[in-house]
Amino acid sequence: MRIQLRELRRQQEQDLNFSVDVDLTKVHPNVEKSVKVFVKARARYSEDLYVIDGRLNAVLTLKCSKCLTAYDWPLESDWHEVFSREQPAQAEEKDDTNIHVVEEDEVDLLPYIREVLLLEIPFVPVCRDDCRGLCPVCGVNRNTDDCDCKQETIDPRLAELKNFFSSKDNT
Ligand SMILES: [Zn+2]
Ligand SMILES: [Zn+2]
Repeated sequence: MRIQLRELRRQQEQDLNFSVDVDLTKVHPNVEKSVKVFVKARARYSEDLYVIDGRLNAVLTLKCSKCLTAYDWPLESDWHEVFSREQPAQAEEKDDTNIHVVEEDEVDLLPYIREVLLLEIPFVPVCRDDCRGLCPVCGVNRNTDDCDCKQETIDPRLAELKNFFSSKDNT
């Protein structure tokens, strides 16, 4: 999706309602497939700035870091961008908003939408807070299957003590 700044300057305001396919599978290891992002926003031109305000909606398919199962992850995020054709003077840098200085009258919005998604997706996604993950011995998904593998569960405060004794045994 591209926006024509010259046209926006003429109209002063534009509604942006579109959907766009975003593929983040190569930049985030837990993103399973490309996703359709629904964009509802308003673009305005004022005082040499082109301002976009709106929302992004998508349902991503993420892979759980613990049990490796794919799950739906609905995303709804605010979307705010400010463009300028010229380097703004220091005083014009209002609030904390980063102003994107663009060279062309035509701006591709996809990279900016990708950036918002990437910032929102958890670094280590899990399918649910209490995901039990995979059995480290046999590999079954412990959310859905049981296994008879013996697992030592050690209080972390006692683990150090145990290490101490086992290293003593080795000497
Ligand atoms: Zn999981
Ligand atoms: Zn097991």
